[in-house]
Amino acid sequence: MFREKIINEFAEDNRRDSANEIIDKIAKCHWCGSRFVKSHSSEVYCSSFCRESAREEQSRDKAIRWYHRNKEFLSDDARYGLGSGWLGGHRHFDFDDELRVVENELVRLKIRK
Ligand SMILES: [Zn+2]
Repeated sequence: MFREKIINEFAEDNRRDSANEIIDKIAKCHWCGSRFVKSHSSEVYCSSFCRESAREEQSRDKAIRWYHRNKEFLSDDARYGLGSGWLGGHRHFDFDDELRVVENELVRLKIRK
């Protein structure tokens, strides 16, 4: 339908060949879905914003897949070492709240059961 519409537009001016050339260069963006004219055959994104957004999501998905594939093989240092804690940067002003958080962390780190 889209192809026919463009060919009909160009057919009025007897430019059917150039219409086909342009149609071959029109593609749908893999990120936002809008139509754009390709400047080379392997182009799949309409703009650098779409390309970078897609790359960010691909690397995020890749990191998540990597973690779930390898989490059982991570060293104890990577799982429980420095920087892996869930304690906040500031203490609780209520002593009981602080005690509860520290005890939960001791259990998580398998220091206390
Ligand atoms: Zn796009």
